[in-house]
Amino acid sequence: MTGLVTIVGLGPGDPRHLTPAASEALASATDLVGYGPYVDRAPERPGQRRHASDNRVELDRARFALDLAAKGARVAVVSGGDPGVFAMAAAVFEAVDDGDPAWRSLDICVEPGITAMLAAAARVGAPLGGDFCAMSLSDNLKPWEVVEARLRAALAADFVIALYNPISSARPWQLGAAFKIVAETRGPDTPITLARAVMRPDERIRIVQLSEVEASMADMSTVVIIGASTTKLIERSDGETPYVYTPRFYGVKP
Ligand code: SAH
Repeated sequence: MTGLVTIVGLGPGDPRHLTPAASEALASATDLVGYGPYVDRAPERPGQRRHASDNRVELDRARFALDLAAKGARVAVVSGGDPGVFAMAAAVFEAVDDGDPAWRSLDICVEPGITAMLAAAARVGAPLGGDFCAMSLSDNLKPWEVVEARLRAALAADFVIALYNPISSARPWQLGAAFKIVAETRGPDTPITLARAVMRPDERIRIVQLSEVEASMADMSTVVIIGASTTKLIERSDGETPYVYTPRFYGVKP
């Protein structure tokens, strides 16, 4: 089989954050597959077929891409941010694991991209400077009990926590419930970064204290970074957004 599937990370939004390797993978593909708004972000190439879908079922899209590749196509599956972070790369491997045995002889590559939490962290300072973890708050693919247990464990470990998929019209209450759980262990002045549409024209970034945060401050284009007990703000002159950082030094020699 000569077909190829490359799952390409487009980064958070600004084309300048697309890696040259990801650009090459997009340019050399015969077929682009992905959710409409992501396919729209790839430059048009003469002769390249574009399969934009509204379908949010990632596994269906993955199987479609694998089928095209099995017929000899060079397929680029596009994903926002990094394709391995709550995105299409795992869907493609899940489809292979569970699908047509012939798909196992296809070449499957992953081209990394800048994931939302790294873009958001860069905008506000260095909140991920200490140990951190990332979680998807979505309970579409896993039960809420698992989300809650994992969040409690991350809080107990004093990780900085990046929350992806914090809220949507279909999942309106989960973020509020998560903030309540956070408030059981973290102080009221814990810095919370709400970074929306980072590195896109409609970017909006807020830094608020845990005691003031509300679920309505986030939407489905927001990544939420919850500070650890060591995360600090550096206040600046009037009207300037403070810097947020998590020191690496604990004040105790290891
Ligand atoms: N693969 C993507 C994440 C997909 S999950 C990545 O690596 O970034 C979708 C979630 O990612 C959104 O609900 C939001 O929490 C986050 N996200 C994606 N792009 C974002 C951006 N530009 N700004 C803020 N959050 C973003």
